[in-house]
Amino acid sequence: MQILDGQLTARTIRENLKMEVAAMLAEGKKIPHLAAVLVGNNGASETYVAAKVKACAEIGFKSTMIRLDDTISETKLLSVIEELNGDMDVDGILVQLPLPKHISDEKIILSIDPDKDVDGFHPVNVGKLVLGTPSFVSATPHGIILLLEHYKIVTAGKSAAVIGRSNIVGRPMSILLSANSNPGNCTVTLCHSKTHNLEEICRGSDIIVAALGRPEFVRADMVKEGAVVIDVGITRIPDSSKKSGFALKGDVAFAEVSPKCSFITPVPGGVGPMTIAALMKNTFTALKRKH
Ligand code: NAP
Repeated sequence: MQILDGQLTARTIRENLKMEVAAMLAEGKKIPHLAAVLVGNNGASETYVAAKVKACAEIGFKSTMIRLDDTISETKLLSVIEELNGDMDVDGILVQLPLPKHISDEKIILSIDPDKDVDGFHPVNVGKLVLGTPSFVSATPHGIILLLEHYKIVTAGKSAAVIGRSNIVGRPMSILLSANSNPGNCTVTLCHSKTHNLEEICRGSDIIVAALGRPEFVRADMVKEGAVVIDVGITRIPDSSKKSGFALKGDVAFAEVSPKCSFITPVPGGVGPMTIAALMKNTFTALKRKH
């Protein structure tokens, strides 16, 4: 069994980007600029945005963090996005989800310029993903593809089960794995809460991507010998032994599943760091596409 080390792979991606940015600076060129919009004080969202801003600083990207009160109106938030769309210096815009209940996620995503939509959530980018034309791919599935690529995992002709059909993880993951590309060319089954024979589907799959947000849902008896298992889940579980008061649990029962796998991602240190690395790559691409 080999661990798919997201921490290490993400560091390699960041180092490569850092060198490219240093070269751009040396040539007097513009460097990538990410604008991150955070509405309210959701603890997890604050952590995610802080990690993204930190990654920008490490690589040498410019970043702007826009913190807004959770009482902000939808109209006001739309005008903030409009301003960022029109700002020639801003290459990528991300609005951390979820937004407060009185604001429509859909409306906000639609308002972002597709050419600056580094999260890959805009329907234009989702449409391009489905058609297999270049687009910004949602950071988590994009990060998983980068991880599979880094470890040269053969996916062509393999069967894959993706558990979870969210627009940001499961569905784009299923599209990428089934695409005529490398990594890709899998025969994919997209599972969800209404899937009847989920355990059987998983047992018959060479690759399992668990993205449902149910701690330790994937057990050893659902996994075939030699499978590649990607654990996307992150759930905060109260843990008084931790300084933070919580521990992070994945969707896979790692201790019992890992001995059966050829490759598996840990939680933390697997998909999480790759998500941020993919976002950085998307931001870099956003600037490159302009020129
Ligand atoms: P989500 O929007 O809540 O979607 C969960 C999906 O799982 C839904 O499609 C749901 O089915 C399905 N599901 C729930 N219970 C199930 C069950 N018992 N059997 C089969 N399918 C089931 O979640 P998400 O945003 O995709 O996130 C999933 C997990 O990944 C969460 O733990 C999240 O924190 C984590 N995540 C991690 C990263 C990272 O960077 N590592 C990034 C994003 C998300 P229905 O559609 O039928 O309801």
